[in-house]
Amino acid sequence: MMKNKDLGLATKAIHAGTKRDLQYGSLVMPIYQTSTFMFDSCEQGGKRFAGEEQGHIYTRLGNPTTDVLEARVAALEGTEACVFFSSGMGAISSVFWTICKSGSHIVADKTLYGCTFSFLKHGMTRYGVDVDFVDLSDTKNLEKALKKETAAVVFETPANPNLKVIDIKKIADISHAFNKNIKVVCDNTFATPVLQQPIALGCDVVVHSATKFLNGHGDVIAGCVCGTKEFLTEVRLFGLKDMTGAVLGPFEAFLIMRGLKTLDIRMERHCLNALKLVEYLQTNKKVEKIYFPGLKEHPNHEIVKKQMKTFGSMIAFEVSGGRQAGAKLLDNMKLCSLSVSLGDAETLVQHPASMTHSTYDAESLALADISEGLVRVSVGLENIEDIIADFEQSFKKI
Ligand SMILES: *Cc1c(COP(=O)(O)O)cnc(C)c1O
Repeated sequence: MMKNKDLGLATKAIHAGTKRDLQYGSLVMPIYQTSTFMFDSCEQGGKRFAGEEQGHIYTRLGNPTTDVLEARVAALEGTEACVFFSSGMGAISSVFWTICKSGSHIVADKTLYGCTFSFLKHGMTRYGVDVDFVDLSDTKNLEKALKKETAAVVFETPANPNLKVIDIKKIADISHAFNKNIKVVCDNTFATPVLQQPIALGCDVVVHSATKFLNGHGDVIAGCVCGTKEFLTEVRLFGLKDMTGAVLGPFEAFLIMRGLKTLDIRMERHCLNALKLVEYLQTNKKVEKIYFPGLKEHPNHEIVKKQMKTFGSMIAFEVSGGRQAGAKLLDNMKLCSLSVSLGDAETLVQHPASMTHSTYDAESLALADISEGLVRVSVGLENIEDIIADFEQSFKKI
């Protein structure tokens, strides 16, 4: 096997971490659907628990099928290690349980996925962790917010749901210049490693909802964390093992590896379709404002060009007539599904204020720049003419 660093991304998504099946020569990694593993002797069991001998113990601590998936995603993100979880929230919460203790301080961007926001705002604060929500798209706000207790800086870029973009390198540089021990955590769910690699730009930790583009087929809930071997060992043996227990099942690991094989070509089509849908929306007089990193009018378009390969397939927009007109548009879609989640083959449409971001109260929504009428689209892999025709027929009904 060639060294990972010599391989292209599409090749890594198919081959990285592959282990040769010495028993039967299986091409695809088998599903080791087992909770526990047998030891040859008490001495061996003891050594495995003490970390003195490699080998499996119990699937909450690791599983051969999941091991290959983890090695593969680590190769895609360019990190030493990766740990998978049974959901994106399992991954994110395990990271903060690992990093923080009572008295710790977190700087979070003010626009986050609804449950990440709720975990930090209503969860961590119960345990003596102080969280400041600021707009990290202006790095001056970071400089003001950092303090000696700051243990982590966390953001999404592009952010869910309004596609706000944050300068990853600047955030990492400022945080580490202030204190090199601060963990800079980037949620890379919207971009995927195909479009953006936060570790190469200076971040310490990448988190994903693998439910979305990484799996890409709408049939799994999963998450992962990528970073150094040292940090990920802590995340696995404390955050995952003891605090959340949010362990991925081997069957889901198999499905995600199956999805990953086409990640690179899926992203290519996703991005092309999104560009064409944006072009259509720009010509539609009922669309008031479009949020898409590929538009020149996007407030951070220059940073987008610097840190992303292309623009992704998430679009948000406002319909003239506000929330009611938006709801009518969504209710009348025929091909596109009115569903939360994203990154699937199916085009999905939803209303963040009442759905994915309903954990925000009205005031927090306004603060996070998520308008009441915002509509979010995850552009799928259908023929773009059919997606556009569906929007067109539905727009006619409002
Ligand atoms: C969906 C999502 C999550 C949560 O992931 P789950 O797999 O649903 O737990 C976290 N961050 C972002 C940006 C998301 O879109």
